Amino acid sequence: MVHPLWWDDAAPSPTPPELPARADVAVVGGGYTGLWTAYHLLREQPGIEVVVLEAEHVGFGASGRNGGWVSALFPVSGDALAARHGAPAAHAMLAALRESVEEIGRTTADEGVDAGYVRGGTLVLARGRAQEARARSEVAADARWGGGTRWLERDEALERLAAADRPGRTVLGATASPHCARV
Ligand SMILES: Cc1cc2nc3c(=O)[nH]c(=O)nc-3n(C[C@H](O)[C@H](O)[C@H](O)COP(=O)(O)OP(=O)(O)OC[C@H]3O[C@@H](n4cnc5c(N)ncnc54)[C@H](O)[C@@H]3O)c2cc1C
Repeated sequence: MVHPLWWDDAAPSPTPPELPARADVAVVGGGYTGLWTAYHLLREQPGIEVVVLEAEHVGFGASGRNGGWVSALFPVSGDALAARHGAPAAHAMLAALRESVEEIGRTTADEGVDAGYVRGGTLVLARGRAQEARARSEVAADARWGGGTRWLERDEALERLAAADRPGRTVLGATASPHCARV
């Protein structure tokens, strides 16, 4: 399996403590899912004993090998979600995605986690008429779901990103969503 470069200067894993004979909750897997579960359990009920069981080391799976995007982008549109699950469920899910981006920023700040969280949003350039048409219709669709994605004209897009024009691939504009950070 590929060795992520950020493991090179990470602090060494602490020696695992001896397993307790019993726990109130045992979480299997020390990735994001397991660690957030343990974190919230302990915040809700600080008195309980929670054990995270990890077969390799914390972050061994996808959680330690990803692109570092904290993003509310979802590869299914609000319209498609609503068609399958109803508009209230689609609104709730998209709001939860947006809230997660903020929560990760808040939590890393509150807990002093040096994760390099920077919420710069997502910018997607349109370099052709077909891309521009798709981008503009994404902006319109996102507006129906309160997503806050804006269309930036060329000058505003180039202020945010110093992209070069190429023959036949001129920057025409960009979509900008505020709901994305990097860690
Ligand atoms: C290349 C790549 C890029 C990605 N980029 C992004 C991104 O930019 N932004 C984003 O939000 N998401 C990204 N993802 C997705 C994201 O990383 C995963 O959705 C997320 O890490 C899943 O977390 P998890 O805790 O559910 O699983 P995992 O991180 O896989 O954790 C599962 C853990 O369980 C342990 N385990 C498994 N079985 C047992 C067992 N029987 N006993 C004990 N321990 C066990 C494993 O060792 C592992 O550590 C990316 C994924 C990949 C692969």
